[in-house]
Amino acid sequence: MGKTYFCDELNNVLSCFHDRIMSCCSGQIGPVYYETYRGQKIDWDAFKKIKNDAFELLTEENIEKSPCKGCFFLRERRKEDTVSSNFKILNISHWTQCNCGCIYCARMQDSRGKITDKPAKSEYYDFLPLLKQLYKNELLDRKNLMASIQGGDISVLKEFEPIVKEFLKQGIGNFYILSNNIRYQPIIKKLLDKNICTYTTALDCATPELYYKLKRVDKFKDSVENLKKYVKSKHPEGVVVKYIVIEHFNDNIEEITKFVNLMYLIGIQNIEFMIDNRYIMFTNLDEKPLPKHYGELYLCFKNLCEDKGINLRLWSKTEYIINKYALKN
Ligand code: SF4
Ligand code: SF4
Repeated sequence: MGKTYFCDELNNVLSCFHDRIMSCCSGQIGPVYYETYRGQKIDWDAFKKIKNDAFELLTEENIEKSPCKGCFFLRERRKEDTVSSNFKILNISHWTQCNCGCIYCARMQDSRGKITDKPAKSEYYDFLPLLKQLYKNELLDRKNLMASIQGGDISVLKEFEPIVKEFLKQGIGNFYILSNNIRYQPIIKKLLDKNICTYTTALDCATPELYYKLKRVDKFKDSVENLKKYVKSKHPEGVVVKYIVIEHFNDNIEEITKFVNLMYLIGIQNIEFMIDNRYIMFTNLDEKPLPKHYGELYLCFKNLCEDKGINLRLWSKTEYIINKYALKN
């Protein structure tokens, strides 16, 4: 028998997007649990079978037929790897409305560029009924589940608070909440106080002028003020600020230096360095390589953070790409 493969994302992750429910957001298609989901009744037995069927294809003989073929998350299967009956990470990203318009946004095509400032229902489906069904069918690990809620400003989604409350009622390990941070959310501060939340936002710059160029709304000061409120929580280490490197906008040492200084003044303890998602998801880096200076920028960022005692992390897919394409020499 030839090699067999394993993917921890496939085993642990369920991702709910506006157009489908699938295993991962790797940039590969990966196994799909429900195509064109719009709140329909789900056949849960068929749903549960999909993960096992996907693992069946992760053998040397069958990999050609697998939607995971070629994915860099695949690794050789070890003796101790077992396929779990539930999920430990739930990605919630089913709505597309947003109150800003980042130039690098991968969701703009789905929201058709609409910018809304009012809390709105998802244009696609309500999440709360689906969440209740997932718990009822024992598909979510009540003790260790990480609920990752992401996409735009979370407070634009009307269901946000009810969803959080349902998780707290049913059982959860922790939350990973990604928001553009334009509006302050008291419930997020409460989750930070309880030490069950990582709150991440992408500021990407240190001046209102550059913020406006990147996000196309005049909300830099709001975002900075909100960060100051969140770091007053009992666990400020739960707040992570991203710097997404965008070519020709903030890919220079001067902007990075200003950004690290600002984070230090606010009291941010964790920064995440990330490459523009369009490079990660949609570009063949063997054909259109990463800009040569990205490796140098990352190393400079690392030194500046070390000087200020700030922890710098690389988002997982950025880490893979930086190591493979920017630091290879
Ligand atoms: S191997 Fe890749 S495409 Fe398949 S489930 Fe894992 S991360 Fe997704
Ligand atoms: S905050 Fe997120 S969803 Fe909103 S425009 Fe920016 S990248 Fe897109």
